[in-house]
Amino acid sequence: MTDKEFTIKNYFDFFNEGKLMGNKCTKCGTIHVPPKKLCNKCYGTELEWFEFGGKGTLQSYSLIGVGARYFANQGYSIKKPYCFGVVKLEEGPHISGHIVGPDDFEQHPDNFKVGLPVKIKFLTIETEGKEPKIDLGFEPA
Ligand SMILES: [Zn+2]
Repeated sequence: MTDKEFTIKNYFDFFNEGKLMGNKCTKCGTIHVPPKKLCNKCYGTELEWFEFGGKGTLQSYSLIGVGARYFANQGYSIKKPYCFGVVKLEEGPHISGHIVGPDDFEQHPDNFKVGLPVKIKFLTIETEGKEPKIDLGFEPA
């Protein structure tokens, strides 16, 4: 698929193409996200890029009112909390991300449940004076 190095920079660069990419050990089949240089399970170095389908289920979550400046800069506050959660991807690995939804979905805690089916939604984060950044998010599937 690609001979790009397994770096965090390349992992984030794939977000710009709308892809969540990890890597897979060709020896034991273990899938990593973000990609690793060495297999977590067998310590093998024979790895190949792996594209995730983008579906998963919410495993845990927090609604955060007083959070990181990164989120405060996006307009979140104690009156407008954001949801940050852990998603189990269909392919197995877990990954954390911003959970979003239509309208004010995030402001209604009843919308969130463990096991909620979600899919990737890449988020464009605008910061004044900076290039827009693409971040990993999920929305209800
Ligand atoms: Zn392995």
